[in-house]
Amino acid sequence: THFGFSQVPVEQKQAKVGAVFDSVARRYDAMNDLMSFGVHRMWKRFTIAKSGVRKGYSVLDIAGGTGDLSRKFADIVGPEGRVVLADINASMLEVGRTRMLNEGYAAPLEYVQANAEKLPFPEDSFDCVSIAFGLRNVTDKDAALAEMCRVLKPGGRLLVLEFSKPQNPLLAKMYDAYSFKALPMMGKLVAQDSDSYKYLAESIRMHPDQETMLGMLQTAGLSLCKYYNLSDGIVALHTGIKA
Ligand code: SAM
Repeated sequence: THFGFSQVPVEQKQAKVGAVFDSVARRYDAMNDLMSFGVHRMWKRFTIAKSGVRKGYSVLDIAGGTGDLSRKFADIVGPEGRVVLADINASMLEVGRTRMLNEGYAAPLEYVQANAEKLPFPEDSFDCVSIAFGLRNVTDKDAALAEMCRVLKPGGRLLVLEFSKPQNPLLAKMYDAYSFKALPMMGKLVAQDSDSYKYLAESIRMHPDQETMLGMLQTAGLSLCKYYNLSDGIVALHTGIKA
């Protein structure tokens, strides 16, 4: 199989994304650390720092996977708060839930299987909505952003953490070589699965750059939109407020 997305019809994309995450779920956390040299932890800490989340807040972490952000949010909001870890993929949710239970997390965490494009929550539900390394996998990104805006309370904050465009041309070249050559090779060696990691590289290359993403947040109805380049723009955090 080959997960090249540029050649497949839109209906098949969701199924392929499902297959990718089914196959990586158990090794997901280890591979994250390995492939980003642990730097993803720093990107996530930065995101939490910019979230404005406090004790008692309600937070939705969509495409939350194994729950890196959710568990940090849970620590902050405490038992009076609410953290919903939502993901479209049952295997990822299950790995996340097991890991959380093993670490002794119960309340305020909830687990919901949901598609970012159609969120099963009423409008004005959350003080903060986050999506980390998830939007890139979503077929209709504009629909997903509009949904995230809808479920935010007025004054609530959206956080989109995602791969973006490296600013330095030399770094961009090295990074390209790393993602298209080294990543699939590591995927093959460590996880006996180079296709999923080829998909990763391709999905990163096809994802909108910083300014395009900024425009998409504005189109979705968010105000005061801005972004922060992390690691020279390999990753960007976009934020916006629901007016
Ligand atoms: N947020 C976690 C993190 O930062 O480690 C997990 C990121 S993982 C790379 C991407 C996640 O997006 C996967 O768990 C996948 O199942 C989920 N996903 C893909 N498409 C989705 C969709 N349409 N709606 C919700 N989640 C989706």
